[in-house]
Amino acid sequence: MHYQHHLDNSPSPLPAGKVVCVGRNYAEHAKELNNPVPEEPLLFIKPSTALVDMRQPIELRGDRGPVHYETELAILIGQPLTRAQPEQVEAAIAGVGLGLDLTLRERQSLLKKQGHPWEIAKAFDGSCPLSPFVPFAAIRDIGDCRLQLEVDGELRQNGSSAEMLTPVVALIVYISQHFSLLPGDVVLTGTPAGVGVLEPGMQLRLRLDRVLELQTSVCHSASN
Ligand code: ZN
Repeated sequence: MHYQHHLDNSPSPLPAGKVVCVGRNYAEHAKELNNPVPEEPLLFIKPSTALVDMRQPIELRGDRGPVHYETELAILIGQPLTRAQPEQVEAAIAGVGLGLDLTLRERQSLLKKQGHPWEIAKAFDGSCPLSPFVPFAAIRDIGDCRLQLEVDGELRQNGSSAEMLTPVVALIVYISQHFSLLPGDVVLTGTPAGVGVLEPGMQLRLRLDRVLELQTSVCHSASN
């Protein structure tokens, strides 16, 4: 998997790295899953093997229970960040795009109930389809970007980064206190309300402000 630039589709020189994700960063989404709003950002990681190009059909394996979509603002990191200050974070953002945090929801609920880690439900191969990235400078206001997901022509998710409990720059500052971020790493910033199940045959359309729009589909995995 190589990152792509949105405008000319050229490959980015950055290597595909890890994905640091935050759970429950939108109060309305925490509520829809009956989760309390955390006092500090709730972090988890997907490995680079989770990354796939979102413009390719999203393949679902049928043997592990329902896969939920979560549409999220994705930030591509261009410079190393360790215990960073906000200004360093702003200077290190190489691109902004959209990611899907695919989740085996039933597995996750079971693992949560048992007090176990979530990796099997969240970090599997292909669990992070990513859009191409637009330059940070093309984003009008990172603190108020709108992300939308339509499923078969129906608007299912419609949120703004203004609704985040921990905004983008503060979130990356927080992440860098715990995990160094390297060029090619991606941060997924949480999902607004409206998550649901993916089924083969669905057509998805995703939008980020007026700077990015793409369409993709869902299919059965060829190996299943
Ligand atoms: Zn998520």
